[in-house]
Amino acid sequence: MSFDVLPFIETKRDGGEHAPGEMKAFVEALQTGKVKDYQVSAWLMAAFLRGLSPEERRCLTECLADSGRRMELPPSMASVDKHSTGGVGDKTTLVLVPLVASCGVPVAKLSGRGLGFTGGTVDKLEAIPGMRTHLEMSVFRSQVERIGCAVSGHSAELAPAEGKLYALRDVTGTVPSKDLITTSIVSKKIAGGARSFVYDVKWGNGALMERFEEAEELARLLVDLSRSLGHPSRALLTSMEQPLGQWVGNAAEVREAVTILQGGGPASTREVCLALGGEMLCLAGAVPTPEEGERVCGASLAKGNALEKFRQLLEAQGGDPRVADTPEALLPLAEDSLSLAAAGEGWLASIPTRRLGEAVRRLGGGRLTQTDTVDPGVALRLHRNIGDPVSPGEPLATLYGRDKARLEETRRALEGTFEISPRPVEPVRWVRRRLG
Ligand code: URA
Repeated sequence: MSFDVLPFIETKRDGGEHAPGEMKAFVEALQTGKVKDYQVSAWLMAAFLRGLSPEERRCLTECLADSGRRMELPPSMASVDKHSTGGVGDKTTLVLVPLVASCGVPVAKLSGRGLGFTGGTVDKLEAIPGMRTHLEMSVFRSQVERIGCAVSGHSAELAPAEGKLYALRDVTGTVPSKDLITTSIVSKKIAGGARSFVYDVKWGNGALMERFEEAEELARLLVDLSRSLGHPSRALLTSMEQPLGQWVGNAAEVREAVTILQGGGPASTREVCLALGGEMLCLAGAVPTPEEGERVCGASLAKGNALEKFRQLLEAQGGDPRVADTPEALLPLAEDSLSLAAAGEGWLASIPTRRLGEAVRRLGGGRLTQTDTVDPGVALRLHRNIGDPVSPGEPLATLYGRDKARLEETRRALEGTFEISPRPVEPVRWVRRRLG
């Protein structure tokens, strides 16, 4: 049956609702190139302005998930995936994959590269010498069966129509639609094959959603849509008012993740990882409550089981297993550094998280164009957290790079962007709400 795209666009333009058959025909036409990019763009803008009903979101998500191959994991495997909406210094995946697997729950994790000012797990994994970051579907599946976990970049075979839609959203100002974000994320998760999902929805000045209420609405949409498609799900709303942990940058974040797996590391990263890990174990049915899940995860870190699982993950994917023992020796930082000093006395009141992510990206730690190569040694170290007392001249952050002039330029651009209050300030509450 031929698909007429014009009435389809007009229906959404006028605030109407698409029947499931129409949505299916649209995704098929998109996939086979039978609709023009400008027509898809027109529909995207109409969907952005008019929104999608729950039934439309469900149908679009299923059609996108079915537009390519689906990862088939054994039905008996209660596998769980975690998705973060993206942030600065967010290295939780590196910890959670081995941590949750070490507690007996299989983790089939598909990840992406850095997007804008936010980092991506694939770039972080590429900092590890030898690590394979894109696994064939059959290799991915058999690794999850054999050692209980695998982490890989998205294959182009999974949800390819979603990739087309996303690329058009990126250039038509339609990325920030919660309906489209939700269908985009959930379709890729479903194609990835895991049974249940935990969403880490971030809010704050270093997140996709700056306002807490907006992030909460997105979290609700993600959980409701996933559940309506038969995937048990939960969401945590976690803060991106400041970078997570002490380090931002690919090699530096792997180093910090290893310190958590070794039982140490910054309290903030540990807290967020334990909260997410607890939810993952509970969702998979391994423990009765998330709190019990957190306790089990904490015990695995203390006994060294999570670190041992990380070593197995490195070995399975060709990475140097010594990274689990002496990450500093194998993951060097760029040799030049410059610090940003506090301008006054008081308590640290705000941190320009998005600007710090941008700074790392511009120093070479991320991409400005799709073909840029990433320098894993570029980094930023945060010396003070929101709520800490500070005195004039003390370092608040240190930038690591390979070009002194660019480092100096970046330092100057960041001067005065850390707010200092004359009155005490509350520290960040990392986990603000749980949904589901
Ligand atoms: N991440 C996604 O995968 N899709 C979006 O639309 C936004 C963030």
